Amino acid sequence: LAATDSGGVASYHPVLDQQSLRRLQLGTEIEQAMADGQISVVFQPIIDAQTSDIVSVETLVRWAHPRYGSIPPDDFIHLAEQIGRIGAVTDHVLDLALARCRRWLDQDIALSVAVNLSVHCLTEPDLVARVRGALQRHGVPGELLTLELTEGSVVDDSVRDSTVLADLHDLGLRLSMDDFGTGYSSLSQLRQLPIDEVKIDKSFILGMSTSQGEAFIARSIIELAHNLGLRVVAEGVEDEMTRNLLTEMGCDKLQGFLVSRPLPDDRLENWLLARTG
Ligand code: C2E
Ligand code: CA
Ligand code: CA
Ligand code: CA
Repeated sequence: LAATDSGGVASYHPVLDQQSLRRLQLGTEIEQAMADGQISVVFQPIIDAQTSDIVSVETLVRWAHPRYGSIPPDDFIHLAEQIGRIGAVTDHVLDLALARCRRWLDQDIALSVAVNLSVHCLTEPDLVARVRGALQRHGVPGELLTLELTEGSVVDDSVRDSTVLADLHDLGLRLSMDDFGTGYSSLSQLRQLPIDEVKIDKSFILGMSTSQGEAFIARSIIELAHNLGLRVVAEGVEDEMTRNLLTEMGCDKLQGFLVSRPLPDDRLENWLLARTG
């Protein structure tokens, strides 16, 4: 497969390089990895910016691979999308998130959970039925679930012209536009969609305490979103100054390492206990 230095025609096949081979192999392992419990989730708290009360947790997927160690979602979500396995991963994550939410309900804690929904899932014809089924199976009201959509997906014409977002919304759940500011959609476009919330991408929030430009972008998004009746979440809040700026700007909710890193279930439990005293 390697190029030769003997003057012959180099037979380099980019499709079969080392990285691609590993990716292909990983792809074939996803299903079994879920069955084996290698693919789990962590939860990152989201707090009310004004009261500091915990209002929600975002569910973030993790893969503990027996040979490669911990594989970050950015390394396998895209792969799962490409090989048509993202629906199965989504179902798995949704199941773990709603099971957790159910156990809180049993303790009289109505804590909502957020789950990431990839663009590709919006075109799956049975998506709405699967989400409805998961809510029913766990006995969790739709009001306690937020689906975070990657921004790029929603401006897609096929999605805009379909009823999938309206049908999801009809389940009572909240729709949040994730990574806001990194794609091409504008807030006025969002007005035509049943979106409840925008999540300002951390690339803007991380620079806020040192860059007036980033702070200005955050302020503009918050003002415009509020004028459209949308709530605003900031992700990637790492320092007090950023937190204070966002609170002063009227941002509704905050998420980031300053509040808490994403935590496995048992550590989240301790975090909640310590926080509520
Ligand atoms: P995202 O949805 O934008 O999630 C936020 C990412 O920022 C998470 O990375 C989180 O750990 C990280 N983060 C949170 N607070 C801070 C902070 O204060 N500073 C910094 N520097 N980073 C912070 P993670 O867990 O590696 O996830 C990466 C991306 O993978 C997510 O970005 C999301 O797009 C995707 N992803 C994760 N879980 C799922 C899933 O279950 N389904 C789908 N479709 N995508 C997922
Ligand atoms: Ca997210
Ligand atoms: Ca983001
Ligand atoms: Ca993202």
